[in-house]
Amino acid sequence: MVNKTDNNNNKVQELEKQLHDREAEIELLKTTFSEIGGELDIEKVFQIVAERARELLMAETLLIPILDEDCEVYTYRGGAGKNATEIVGESLPYNTGICGWVWKHKRAWWRGVLDELNDKDRNIWEKEAGSIILVPLVGREHFLGGLAGINKLNGSDFDRRDLNFLSIFASTVAIVIENAMTFQKLEMSNQMMSDYQLHQEKLNKQLKDSSRKLEQLSLYDPLTSLPNRSLFQDRLGQHIAHARINQQNIGLLLIDLDNFKEINDTLGHENGDHLLKQIGQRFSQNLLPDETLSRLGGDEFVFILPQNNQREILSRGYELLELLNSPFTINETEVAISASIGASVYPEHGEDISELLRHTDSAMYHAKDVKLGIHLYDPDIDNKSTAQLTMTTDLHKALEENDFQLYYQPKIRLQDDALISVEALGRWEHPKLGFIPPNIFIEALEQTGQIDRYTKWAVKTALAQISLWKKVGYDIKVAVNISTLSLNHADFIQFLKENIIDSSIGGSLIFEITENLFLAEYEHLCETLITLKGLGIILSIDDFGTGYSSLSRLKKLPVSELKIDRSFVMDMIEDTDDEVIVKSTIELSHNLGLTVVAEGVEDRETYVRLKELGCDTVQGYFISKPLPIHSFNEFLTQKNSRTVFKL
Ligand code: C2E
Ligand code: CA
Ligand code: CA
Repeated sequence: MVNKTDNNNNKVQELEKQLHDREAEIELLKTTFSEIGGELDIEKVFQIVAERARELLMAETLLIPILDEDCEVYTYRGGAGKNATEIVGESLPYNTGICGWVWKHKRAWWRGVLDELNDKDRNIWEKEAGSIILVPLVGREHFLGGLAGINKLNGSDFDRRDLNFLSIFASTVAIVIENAMTFQKLEMSNQMMSDYQLHQEKLNKQLKDSSRKLEQLSLYDPLTSLPNRSLFQDRLGQHIAHARINQQNIGLLLIDLDNFKEINDTLGHENGDHLLKQIGQRFSQNLLPDETLSRLGGDEFVFILPQNNQREILSRGYELLELLNSPFTINETEVAISASIGASVYPEHGEDISELLRHTDSAMYHAKDVKLGIHLYDPDIDNKSTAQLTMTTDLHKALEENDFQLYYQPKIRLQDDALISVEALGRWEHPKLGFIPPNIFIEALEQTGQIDRYTKWAVKTALAQISLWKKVGYDIKVAVNISTLSLNHADFIQFLKENIIDSSIGGSLIFEITENLFLAEYEHLCETLITLKGLGIILSIDDFGTGYSSLSRLKKLPVSELKIDRSFVMDMIEDTDDEVIVKSTIELSHNLGLTVVAEGVEDRETYVRLKELGCDTVQGYFISKPLPIHSFNEFLTQKNSRTVFKL
């Protein structure tokens, strides 16, 4: 009975112990989970899991082998107990040892498994793995690895209880481990991302820095590889500083290609570039040792010639122009070019970079304008061209303030040597620049849209003069030169209608119109001329022989007079060709019913010859230069005749 009771007591105690252990184990599980539940640091998770599992199993050592992603190796990622620190971090091929067996079979290993093996396998594994327990760690998504306990502290083997318990433990921690591993991976890739970003930013910064440096260093023109404008200015500055100290001259030659825009348009920009490159090369090959050549941009090249006088600079300029004389080959086609050069000398034409450049530039433009090839800066010319800029305002002012004048040049009827008419020629005395030739200011008026106003003024003045002469008994017709632009304006015709009320005055007015006009707007012109004729105005074709019109064409126009251009008349005595032209023009005009005026009669011989040829009227310096009104009136009285000019 006692024994039975004792037995029972023992059993109860045993059960109580088991229960107690269970509770302790459950407690351990609980603390483990609360410890690692929210933990995302994988190393910490491995550490805690290893320690708690070792406690749970009461094992000498606990290791956590984890398969790598491609399952080629496994690595002990965590461990606790004996030798753990040495083993952790070590990697082995996936199929080695007991781990290999577990990975292969996807089930736990413990001593009990030995019973299931055949004799041969049992012999192998019994020696190696008798005191090992290894349960797989299976996450939700992956097979991760396992938890391995080695040697129970009390010397016994791991039993089924250990197996069960470790399995429960493993299945729970596997999830935590998997999470932490995923998180780690995520973090790693995040890290990589931000590292990459940092790297990228660093690269960008480097790139910016170096391109800034490059910009500073980009002192060469990429197309021709010649120094560019910045480097040119830098070098010129150095030369000037040097020349200032040593009291030397510097020459500057600015070369600008003629019509490069057209060349570019015809050849295409790519070929234009190609041409510029070749020009740069040709210049470079002929560069003298102390010269600097730069491309300022576009089709502009510049040479700095240190220590040179004006003569040397100009002759170097001519050499450079000659260099361009032989054509360039673009796409197997020969391209001929020409250029204009502006030259200047330091310190004479400028003491600093900008002044010198500005003056060289203006010299180059002058060379281009006048087709000189090369031009050395001349302050007088420069002043004139600057003044031209203000021409528009000056012309406007001249119109406002009535600064224009008409000069009168007599026209003589050869039949009776009578002064029957005059040509009124515009004159303008510019307040600063002095006398401006009419060709120049008429063109400027045309270009600045002020010609109508001027023409109206000229016609009004002529009409007033006709009246004045009429009052004192002179019947003199006045020829006014009419810009073709004005003729096309309806407003001008209206003006004429309003101002020529008295048709007897209208009959004293001659309009000289240049022949070239008849090329364009022929129909419209015909109408206009008919209207003018209706107003009593006599129409005269000016400068005949210089344009493209023909007599047969003139026939259709309501004109009554033709002026042979002075270029034929002036030389007709020496030049038989000219005489032939004059003679036949007179004959043909007469056949068409036109009277003929020869202008530019400078001597008696011409006067006489024209009379012989049957010319109707003459005009020229032989009779008189164009005269201002008071001189003309004096001329009239001197000749002591009211209407007839006798030689
Ligand atoms: P144009 O109509 O051919 O005028 C004749 C030009 O020949 C005048 O020059 C005159 O001075 C010049 N001349 C006259 N006789 C002789 C001579 O014997 N020998 C030489 N070598 N020349 C002589 P100017 O006055 O310099 O006028 C030049 C041109 O300006 C005129 O050529 C005319 O086309 C234009 N022009 C002048 N005044 C006016 C104007 O009021 N309106 C317009 N639209 N044009 C005008
Ligand atoms: Ca004329
Ligand atoms: Ca003329």
